[in-house]
Amino acid sequence: MAKRPRSNNLSLVLVLLVVGGIAADATRRILQRPAVEAPPRPPADTSTSVAGASAPGPRDSAAAARVARVRARIAEDAERTYIMPTLKETDSTVRRWPDRRFAHPLRVAVLRRDVTGYREDFAANVTWAIGHWNGVLPIGFATGADSGEADVVITWASRLDSGKTGRTDLTWDRGGNIHHAFVTLATHDANGHALDSPRMGSLALHELGHTLGLGHSPVPSDALYPIATALELTDRDRRTARLLYELPAGSIR
Ligand SMILES: [Zn+2]
Repeated sequence: MAKRPRSNNLSLVLVLLVVGGIAADATRRILQRPAVEAPPRPPADTSTSVAGASAPGPRDSAAAARVARVRARIAEDAERTYIMPTLKETDSTVRRWPDRRFAHPLRVAVLRRDVTGYREDFAANVTWAIGHWNGVLPIGFATGADSGEADVVITWASRLDSGKTGRTDLTWDRGGNIHHAFVTLATHDANGHALDSPRMGSLALHELGHTLGLGHSPVPSDALYPIATALELTDRDRRTARLLYELPAGSIR
């Protein structure tokens, strides 16, 4: 997928709703299935489909070789990360902020909201979560932006639909490059219980992972497990994020 995105063509921009299925979703998930899901499997077909392409031209060969290299790198760390579930959520596209954004932190606007259940320490919980992600990757976050200039906007709602307590909407292009993230954090879960500061911190840690391009982990202790309870990033969280930013953005089909 080497087509270059054109900034003046908004039709090329895909908006993907990365739905954070968080704590409020717990009841439904517990009713439906065990909390622990099977670990991701390494890609069994790492290079066969690429090698099977017929009579590739020079450009096709280069693209195929690139995809093969990326797949091989993914296979190396598939068991120690949740890169495979992450790629499954994006139809096998490596989706992340582009390298050119590494020079400066992503600008974050934290928009306090006068909604039921909002607490002043929630903004501090977001800052706390940012502190955990900063330093993990060559790209980080800096608060203090206004919403017009921000790369990442974080705000609150009293409730979210679908029983979730967090939601991250990413704007990204066909090349896998993320352009913007909009995060909504709920002050109440699906049962109407108000979130306290630790839960808001876990939720922010989780949603910030989505803003970086991460999908869900099947391991309950990870910050990106669908039911967010982690108060620290795990090695698996960090390893997955670092692998994502080591890979070139774009499709690996
Ligand atoms: Zn999530």
